[in-house]
Amino acid sequence: MSEIAEAVLADGSKLQYVVTSNPPRGGMKYTYFAPDKSYVVQFFNDPKMGQDAKMRDRIAAIIGKYNPTVSEENGGAMGNTEQLAEYFADKYCWPTGIVVSPEFGIVSPAYPPKFFFDANSSLVSGLDLRGRDKKSNWFTSRNRKYLDPRELGNFMLMLKVCISLARSIRRMHAAGLAHSDLSNNNVLIDPKTGSCVVIDIDSLVVPELYPPEVAGTRGYIAPEVLATMEYPYGDPRRSLPCIETDLHSLAVLIYEFLLTRHPLNGPKHFPGMSAEEEDQRLMGSDAVFIEDPNDTSNRPDDLKVTIHDLGPYLEELFIRAFVDGLHSPKLRPTAMDWERGLLRTWDLLYPCDDPQCKAKMFVMYDADHPVCPFCGKKVSASEIVKFRLKKELRGKRGQWMQYGELVVYNNMPLFPWHVYSNIFADEKASREMQAYVVKQNGRWLLINQRIKGLRSASGDLIPPGKALLLRNNESFLLSDMPNGNLVETVMIP
Ligand SMILES: [Zn+2]
Repeated sequence: MSEIAEAVLADGSKLQYVVTSNPPRGGMKYTYFAPDKSYVVQFFNDPKMGQDAKMRDRIAAIIGKYNPTVSEENGGAMGNTEQLAEYFADKYCWPTGIVVSPEFGIVSPAYPPKFFFDANSSLVSGLDLRGRDKKSNWFTSRNRKYLDPRELGNFMLMLKVCISLARSIRRMHAAGLAHSDLSNNNVLIDPKTGSCVVIDIDSLVVPELYPPEVAGTRGYIAPEVLATMEYPYGDPRRSLPCIETDLHSLAVLIYEFLLTRHPLNGPKHFPGMSAEEEDQRLMGSDAVFIEDPNDTSNRPDDLKVTIHDLGPYLEELFIRAFVDGLHSPKLRPTAMDWERGLLRTWDLLYPCDDPQCKAKMFVMYDADHPVCPFCGKKVSASEIVKFRLKKELRGKRGQWMQYGELVVYNNMPLFPWHVYSNIFADEKASREMQAYVVKQNGRWLLINQRIKGLRSASGDLIPPGKALLLRNNESFLLSDMPNGNLVETVMIP
């Protein structure tokens, strides 16, 4: 049985929704869909929550002055342009309106169709997942075996998911907002396209407004929150969700996305303790990273791919998150640290030679031992080519400093952030391909697409449409325009 009802919003406008007898229910809210499913209307399980003035203020701030999916001009976050609002609108399921009648609730956009499984998603298992949302635990746990291989993406696409997530969280944190319940339930991912969307935004912790009573989700709650849950809400000894606790959850999700296992779930256990109490200790006060280099008490003996295989940037970040910062929240890497480290790692990606390899690409951090850690296949190429990216020191003409490295492969594209040292690959950067590298008849060529001022090692101008022959140990200007990088080509046999 279903019937159409009408919600009145805070601004006086009206929206229809379909009332069903058994609406989907989460921990806090239940959900009705629009007749055309383009938005959802959600009400609180406990109607008293909707009468709480502090909660109403918080939701109004989330929809208004803290909203990164609406431009400042249209009442959204400060400094937000139309273009940035559009970029972030895809990254979160941000509430769009407050319902005042028949009772207090919120309106949110529906998730884009790619975040729902379709009829082909689990053909192999015979499990019917049609219409279910793609909560990330489908992809990071044993549940993977139920999914069609096409749903699983590959290592490069999972890295893309991680960059998108780190960026979305960085944007929230930059505004002072904490998600407070970041978990595999509240992050939907589509590995096929490398995208992710952060949902359940209404439990955000907003600066200077009363925090929501959310503890978090098992496996993602920061250890200090779990270890102090015995104290009542409001007791100063109790750690509550905040930006630093989000940073624990973020690191757990990134680890799971890249290695399909949980960073704290290992063999360690406490004999004689109840399962609940033991879990509390293993994820809380006694949590140990399964790859802790000093304390191996929680290390499984069958770890095939480790953080070391993810290259130096991610290895360092995981050590900071799960060794230095596991019980010291201030030492955890920020979302910005993750975004940068993931992007630098992206530049080290290299295709695996084995056509059967599920990862397809891996991080080429050691050109002297080029082996795909996922399948064990050794690279057969006669040489590994790298670009050392150098920027000119400010005020010191002709003095260059290396600040990045790119591992080169056939058909690899170059983007504006590779060409110019003042461009960072964030939401503001243009994603227009500038040039690409090809290997033809044993020679490596850089094909200029649209770079102004690309010059060969001897200073000749290479206009768009023309190719530059790459030679070992030669340096060339990617662009002679301001902030253009100098590139040193290195070929490792
Ligand atoms: Zn491989």
